[in-house]
Amino acid sequence: MEKIENKFIRYVKIDTESSENSSTYPSTSKQLILANLLKDELNNLGLEAEVDEFGLVYCKIEGDNSKKKIGLIAHMDTAPTLPGGNFEPRFIYNYDGNDIKLNEKYTLSPKQFPTLKNEINKTLIVTDGEHLLGGDDKAGIAIIMAICEYYAKNKDINHAPIRICFTPDEEIGSGADHFDVKKMDADIAYTLDGGETNQINYENFNAASCKVQIQGVGIHPGDAKDKMINAILLSVEFNNLLNPEMIPSKTEGYQGFNHLEEISGDVENCTMSYILRNHDENILSQQKESFLKAKETIENKYPLAKVNLEIKDQYRNMKYYFDKDDLAIKKIQETYKQLNLHYTSVPIRGGTDGARITYMGLPCPNLGNGDRLCHGRFEHVVVQEMYEMFEIIKHLLEN
Ligand SMILES: [Zn+2]
Repeated sequence: MEKIENKFIRYVKIDTESSENSSTYPSTSKQLILANLLKDELNNLGLEAEVDEFGLVYCKIEGDNSKKKIGLIAHMDTAPTLPGGNFEPRFIYNYDGNDIKLNEKYTLSPKQFPTLKNEINKTLIVTDGEHLLGGDDKAGIAIIMAICEYYAKNKDINHAPIRICFTPDEEIGSGADHFDVKKMDADIAYTLDGGETNQINYENFNAASCKVQIQGVGIHPGDAKDKMINAILLSVEFNNLLNPEMIPSKTEGYQGFNHLEEISGDVENCTMSYILRNHDENILSQQKESFLKAKETIENKYPLAKVNLEIKDQYRNMKYYFDKDDLAIKKIQETYKQLNLHYTSVPIRGGTDGARITYMGLPCPNLGNGDRLCHGRFEHVVVQEMYEMFEIIKHLLEN
């Protein structure tokens, strides 16, 4: 068996950054380089694999048909926050708990990131300070590829039928756009796209967006008395009518928020873009309601102003699905218990492809892959956790 970290390094060195400013699918063709490499590696193991017309990689490993067919999913792209690939990741063996100098400018320090202290004596893989590592989600891919290699080389072991899918463009919210539930042909599935391997995620935000367009009245400022209605100032007033405690910088855990992402405009017209997030659908409805109330208040106070709201639902908490069908959660929880491993269930403060896939009819909680501080230069992977997840998945497939 090839070491998981060696697979990981090979995948990480391929730049697979996705792009929000693209009209193609996948958004960047370089993701196909990794897709084709994964397909070739699977084929070389004697496994059936394909890259479909959208760049998704599918692979099937037949198994004991009396068991549920289990899907494993990871994404190939990396976030467009920093460049990935084209650099030498570095191993830190037996981490001693001190600062890790990434380069002349940047240091990964437990003073800034206290949870690093939990990784003492472990092996970390870190960046050169100028790239993101891409452990999100190539750590997931490396673990799944190790699972494929293991069962391709140990055909006598009884295990559940395995269904693999690697998706492009997850980081730009399009990873599940062309996911084919029928082709996947699984009963339950898991994305390996979390961080700590002691976390099982099956709750995510309910999400909506709201575009607020405010039209004021423009006039020469010298003659403006009792006539000008400044759309910029109305925007500030509008925002102040929303709950000031319900913003990202003041919320955590199950607390939702309204996040003003962008504002642009002038005296006549001003536009604000918000995202609304909450794990509780009812509270999210109240948040939407508060936007409607703010609109009413502004329009009553300034009859000549116009406020236009465009509220759109984006994605839904997968928890509601699992309230009715929790087999995927029960099975993984049982696996942790049998292995005497502790787990917690942490609500995701975002969305996942797993949530979208769940609502396509394939229940898909999220598991950890050992990655930390993703989407930036301080990203690192805990090698022991990749092996831990490998063992967890093996146990899940064989029991
Ligand atoms: Zn990810």
